[in-house]
Amino acid sequence: MPQSTTSTADFPQRLSVDEARARVRALCAQRRLPAEDVALDAALGRVLAADLVAPLDQPPFANSAMDGYALRGVELPAHGERAFRLAGAVLAGARTAPACGPGECIRITTGAPLPPGADTVVIKENVRSEGDAVVVAAGERAGANVRPAGEDWRRGEVVLRAGDVLTPARLGVLAAAGVAQASVARRPRVALFVTGDELVPPAQPLGFGQIHDSNRYSLGGLLRAAGIEPVQVAHLRDDPDALRTALREAGAHCDLILSSGGVSAGEADFLPGLVAALGRVHFWKVRMKPGMPLLCGEIGQALVFALPGNPVSTIATFLALVQPALLALQGARVEAHVRRARLAAPIAKKHDRAEFLRAALESRDDGALWATPLRQQGSGMLRGVAEADALIVVPETVHELAAGAVVEILPLPGLC
Ligand code: AMP
Ligand code: MG
Repeated sequence: MPQSTTSTADFPQRLSVDEARARVRALCAQRRLPAEDVALDAALGRVLAADLVAPLDQPPFANSAMDGYALRGVELPAHGERAFRLAGAVLAGARTAPACGPGECIRITTGAPLPPGADTVVIKENVRSEGDAVVVAAGERAGANVRPAGEDWRRGEVVLRAGDVLTPARLGVLAAAGVAQASVARRPRVALFVTGDELVPPAQPLGFGQIHDSNRYSLGGLLRAAGIEPVQVAHLRDDPDALRTALREAGAHCDLILSSGGVSAGEADFLPGLVAALGRVHFWKVRMKPGMPLLCGEIGQALVFALPGNPVSTIATFLALVQPALLALQGARVEAHVRRARLAAPIAKKHDRAEFLRAALESRDDGALWATPLRQQGSGMLRGVAEADALIVVPETVHELAAGAVVEILPLPGLC
């Protein structure tokens, strides 16, 4: 037994999902991770720590959007044709551009700086070459095919904001702005513990009463899908001394401890007492199904999420509370990956907890995303969640939903 004298009855208990989320948000706001500079190659999925104020116009100079001939728009013929004298060429990357005088044109490629004097590019497919001359017919538009300096953004504009998650396109923006190292929030250092005397690794044959440890891989996968490689992964026995040592050590060097199992009120469920003895319990049990016994606390410098061991509960509680916490610790402006869909079949529930139902998603011709609840909904049924694309969130106060109702969904990472 844990040596704690703290009674679990003293913990804030049975919070609603919304209360638990608000509590987690507040806890993460006090624990925002510091910024560090990261090369763009390694910055995908990281959270920007400071606004990007454009140091230059983008594009930095007026340039051609097409391959063709640069000339003066006022000289384009209104009727018939006009011949322009070909006075030079400028290719993308040229360090100087020849000037375009009256009656002249300059051959130009996409991305090349516009020659002084020119303000228009006629595409090469629309002209005819006659010796030294380039003949342009009526119908061209003055100013066409030119990308002015600052068309995309102007110097001094805020182009990306602190809290933006770095997508591939945003990495491109940073690079275009000449930023080689992004200032991003440090990734949370996460320890992942799976607990249970019955667990053996997948490679080991099962003895009596044993099961293969699946949470190590589903939770590990959820962390990796969130861009986080756990700094420590371990299987711990239902042994208070072993658990205490591991939790204390992780609390000294991690930002977050994630565990599965041992958090209910059974006689081998040591997590609640141990977290209380080693640190503090912020809340225990959330009014959700599956996932009720979840505990949130802290040990040392680490926030603790002790998730129930049932494989589906583990995934649902991760998506409902841990994923938002990982984003919040990094200061992300998006809170969670909540989306909306229409119910393809009615739902009825009898209990007063929020329910997280496994669902298949289908994008239909009507433009809506439709969610069909799957039949296998047991909290130990991994196959049901493996076949699902998302979890439908049925709020605790809702007991019936008709087909067609709009519901919140939490997409399962890796699918949408
Ligand atoms: P617990 O939360 O420890 O009471 O565990 C609840 C259920 O989840 C039990 O049936 C456990 O055997 C099962 N379980 C716990 N941990 C894991 C795991 N890592 N992989 C698969 N099943 C687990
Ligand atoms: Mg257990």
